[in-house]
Amino acid sequence: MIGKVLIANRGEIAVRILRALMELDIRGLAVYSEADREALHVRLADEAYCIGPPAPEESYLAIEKIIGLAKEKGAQAIHPGYGFLAENYRFAQRCQEESLIFLGPPPEAIRVMGSKTEARRVMREAGVPVVPGTVNPVESEAEVSALAGEIGYPIVLKASAGGGGKGMRIIRSREEVPSSFRATRSEAQSAFGDPAVYVEKYLENPRHVEVQILGDQQGHLIHLGERECTIQRRHQKVIEESPSVIMTEELRRAMGETALAAARAVGYYSAGTVEFLVDRRGNFYFLEMNTRLQVEHPVTEMVTGLDLVKEMIRIAAGEKLPYRQEEIQFRGAAIECRIYAEDPANNFFPCPGRVEVLRSPEGPGVRVDSGVFPGYEIPIYYDPLIAKLIVWGRDRQEAIRRMERALREYTITGVKTVIPFLLEVMRDEHFHRGEIDTSYIDRKLLQADRTKEKGRMTPAPEEEGTEKADIVVLAAALDAFLTGKEKKPAMAPLSNGTLSSFNPWKMAGRRKLLESRG
Ligand code: ADP
Repeated sequence: MIGKVLIANRGEIAVRILRALMELDIRGLAVYSEADREALHVRLADEAYCIGPPAPEESYLAIEKIIGLAKEKGAQAIHPGYGFLAENYRFAQRCQEESLIFLGPPPEAIRVMGSKTEARRVMREAGVPVVPGTVNPVESEAEVSALAGEIGYPIVLKASAGGGGKGMRIIRSREEVPSSFRATRSEAQSAFGDPAVYVEKYLENPRHVEVQILGDQQGHLIHLGERECTIQRRHQKVIEESPSVIMTEELRRAMGETALAAARAVGYYSAGTVEFLVDRRGNFYFLEMNTRLQVEHPVTEMVTGLDLVKEMIRIAAGEKLPYRQEEIQFRGAAIECRIYAEDPANNFFPCPGRVEVLRSPEGPGVRVDSGVFPGYEIPIYYDPLIAKLIVWGRDRQEAIRRMERALREYTITGVKTVIPFLLEVMRDEHFHRGEIDTSYIDRKLLQADRTKEKGRMTPAPEEEGTEKADIVVLAAALDAFLTGKEKKPAMAPLSNGTLSSFNPWKMAGRRKLLESRG
């Protein structure tokens, strides 16, 4: 029934989808912008067509161009990947109207889950625990203060239409309300075209644990366990793993059932992810549902042995999901690191350029989902994710050691990447012990920063506790980023542009032109 699929995306995810199509003997039709003529997805596709200039609005977001091309070239279905049009319900609707199969959930499920406030309302009605706060947008500063009075500071103001870690502000006291309210609204307007904001209780140091679900069009839904995505920088995921270190059979069952209830409430089918925040006592709260394939889906594929893209295609073709919940087995442990072309020495600023030498890690338990090759010029117009490195091990310890080994093998020259930074995390004792929360990275960088400042004033003691030793290692890593050299002595004080004083909103502004991350 599906003989040709148009991939409305680029980069590593377009390549990932093409691989599934090849294995299913389905023709893959790639689209590309003028900035992506040389891209890997263009080279690997059975057919490829240029659809416009580099600006996403004129190419990867140009709904009618994409639909027109699919029809003209005889594709029966469109896979949106993540980012770009993946969570645009109008695009899914337009596909339906043109009798094209949208490889994702029904448009109405995308619409409801696309509004954080509407999603919270529907979830609450379905009995799904949501983070305490409002289900309607707040209209005034006074309303925000009154609400904070009820639920207690800190709170977080969020854009109803937000995503990608943008349009979010933590408020710790009443004095901060007026300026934060105005700033979040204007950010929401400029980033998402909708100024609506709402209030959530800000949970201190939670973990981010999400559940992968899969459902067919006949109403059969299962979950594929969890992914822990707690290691984040500025509210964006950096490292993901499965299983979560806090998981027990009981908690997995409870979170799995809740995720399925969330999906059922919006008539969901296809692959999707229900995100939760988990507090120290193991209470979990619905955060949002991502109605698409996620960046970190390979982690689930490694521990379950399923191919999520193939499952999405079969489901879209109307096939029944052939698994019962009890048949889903979780084997070993998987970890994913996102390899960004970003310069940690410059506030993780996107660092596009030409890849010179590229040697990807290989060997037991290693998977690389990449969109680059030697000589490839990373365009400035899009998200700088160049590859994902995923490893599998019999247990978490083996997976960590394997990731460390694979990161050491990874050689990319010509562009700066976050690899040295990821290596330090793999060597960090707290990470090994699973003692993590969503501010892990910021805290470590801040500690490293402070220790380094102190170290310059007092001679380093001979014996260090583990905690301090970690910090020193991280400080050294920071030095390495900041100097670009391995063994340079202590550098000038980090007075400005330091990692700790980095302003995420500036970054969000700089990224405005870039696609949103998955
Ligand atoms: P986005 O849709 O922009 O990705 P999310 O609502 O999914 O935003 O949140 C992204 C991250 O921000 C979470 O994983 C978590 O680290 C942090 N966060 C969001 N809401 C809260 C909250 N109420 N309390 C604590 N942390 C939060």
